[in-house]
Amino acid sequence: MDYFELRNGELHAEDVPLAAIAAAVGTPVYVYSRATLTRHARVFREALAALPSVHIAFAVKSNPNLAVLRLLAKEGYGADVVSAGEMHRALAAGMPGADIVFSGVGKTPREMAEALDAGLGQFNLESEEEGVELAALAAARGQTAVATLRVNPDVDARTHAKISTGKAENKFGVAYDRAAEIYARLAALPGLAMRGLAVHIGSQITDLEPSRQAFTRMGALMRVLRGQGLTVTHMDLGGGLGVPYKASDVLPGPEDYGAMVAEVTQGWNATVMFEPGRVITGNSGVLITQVIRVKPGAINPFVVVDAAMNDLARPALYDAWHDFVAVRPSGERMIANIVGPICESSDTFAMGREIDAVKAGDLAVFRTAGAYGATMANTYNSRALVPEVMVDGDRWAVVANRIEPATILAAEHVPEWLD
Ligand SMILES: *Cc1c(COP(=O)(O)O)cnc(C)c1O
Repeated sequence: MDYFELRNGELHAEDVPLAAIAAAVGTPVYVYSRATLTRHARVFREALAALPSVHIAFAVKSNPNLAVLRLLAKEGYGADVVSAGEMHRALAAGMPGADIVFSGVGKTPREMAEALDAGLGQFNLESEEEGVELAALAAARGQTAVATLRVNPDVDARTHAKISTGKAENKFGVAYDRAAEIYARLAALPGLAMRGLAVHIGSQITDLEPSRQAFTRMGALMRVLRGQGLTVTHMDLGGGLGVPYKASDVLPGPEDYGAMVAEVTQGWNATVMFEPGRVITGNSGVLITQVIRVKPGAINPFVVVDAAMNDLARPALYDAWHDFVAVRPSGERMIANIVGPICESSDTFAMGREIDAVKAGDLAVFRTAGAYGATMANTYNSRALVPEVMVDGDRWAVVANRIEPATILAAEHVPEWLD
């Protein structure tokens, strides 16, 4: 559930009419609802209340905006980061280094050093090679890096191929069959304190069975390690829970996920860690756009909007669906293709979709744009970097400026020798 609703025929974010934000900031612009973010953060935490010891690390990559991170820090969330850049954001938002988890297959020595400087809580190692490097680096600095080993459980998350991460052929983690020997070798290295296992099988997961399978396999591996006298106090189960993108979508919610996890982790006697991203931020944001014009097409008209694939990449990247609704719906409907202005056919948000009837100048929103939206934005076609706004009741603030093409141009240089 979220707080984007029609009031007197006009779409609001909480108590603020979206048209007022569009008038003040211009379009396209992302709008986040503070009440929705807070609600999602609390619902997710409450769904895990049956577990004796829990740590939640928000997946920063889903929405790294500083204000969003600050809000989640105040809710007691830590962060799951995949680069030093994300780590510095989490720290800037007030999250203690100890509450930050560093994931990712390509941590560089420099990033590892910055993380050690920051007193980072946990490295999720994705290979034996990475563990050996981190151990040497930490030992040379007289430090001990706390780590888990990410295991690839070879489970099909049954989601889009590009966001599936837990199959044997994916680049993430170490092979399940080799995990125990690798863990034992890493645990023996000075400079490294191995404390558990990590798994993350994919994103936009809409069926709990693959996760149940993966977590069950991780529990079995944990028992094998303990049987060999190795220490396992933390089990990181990753993120990935899906969200409804269509009003008609029915999928498991945090309560169902929490019940499944409670069942599988019964008797684990470990701190269970989570890395939710989309389930917290997805339905907490919309992207406001203005219709530039409507032009005829071979079958259906093209609604050309001022948002494009550089602002919201998911439809172009993953054929993703975002509901498109008018800010002031007339009640009439139309069948149309929704496209952006970028010179690529992949700049298409929907084909042959039934939508609110719109015409040039009308405002509309793409819903469920709070996750993997602004964070993936770029300046392709020399467009501006899209701004972000947060609403709180009847007040709102710009939480990320629009970066104009002129600012980006100013960072480019023509070498003398070219003239
Ligand atoms: C992307 C990612 C997440 C978050 O995934 P969501 O689907 O947004 O919950 C969590 N952990 C890791 C390691 C990731 O790569």
